[in-house]
Amino acid sequence: MIEQSLKEVRENISSACQASGRKVDEVTLIAVSKTKPIERLREAYDLGIRDFGENKVQELAEKYDRLPKDIRWHMIGHLQRNKVKYIVDKVALIHSVDSIRLLQTIEQEAAQKQCTVDVLLQVNIAAEESKFGIKPIELLEYMEEIVRLNYVKVRGLMTIAPYVKNAEENRKYFCDLRKLFVDITHENVDNGNVSILSMGMSGDYMVAIEEGSTMIRVGTSIFGEREYPV
Ligand SMILES: *Cc1c(COP(=O)(O)O)cnc(C)c1O
Repeated sequence: MIEQSLKEVRENISSACQASGRKVDEVTLIAVSKTKPIERLREAYDLGIRDFGENKVQELAEKYDRLPKDIRWHMIGHLQRNKVKYIVDKVALIHSVDSIRLLQTIEQEAAQKQCTVDVLLQVNIAAEESKFGIKPIELLEYMEEIVRLNYVKVRGLMTIAPYVKNAEENRKYFCDLRKLFVDITHENVDNGNVSILSMGMSGDYMVAIEEGSTMIRVGTSIFGEREYPV
């Protein structure tokens, strides 16, 4: 029974957009369905959701096989290089690129399958030791690598903000990521159009939208608490 919770999330998105003078269609809602059974995803699909986020390769591939083909799958979890081949032609967007070597592996696998792959660079904006992600200072190095890629298109940045009780505490991180995003769009790297800022989760997506997010990744607020932590 997710109809009511999804409705609330959509209403919150539109108030956050209104509050910040943005249009609702500038923000893509990704329903984070990790650990949830197919039936829940189908329910979300019937309520109009076409973007789903998963954090495990095998789970994404299984759900991909069993659900309609017009779904856009988002890989949002840490991705091991030896697993890239299983999803490279299934995902709409990989949010979690956090090393040059991973970028190179995705390039090789995409070349092999003759597909292009859209990716985001995951930035560890709050410099948390427990989190994956690139340091802001390293981004320039990535921009140099990116111009060499033919099959991988870097579309923007993603971050996982700290877990906080009060979403306002994350506003500065969203603002920082947005500034970095603006910086790299000015680099004018000839690798496709940099336009995606993936930030905001159940606890803080309204603040993220106010700070310029174009993709929010919402799990708990749509599907309820997960059975086991991931
Ligand atoms: C699980 C997860 C989410 C969703 O988290 P909720 O707090 O349940 O909304 C978003 N982004 C990433 C990368 C995740 O792993």
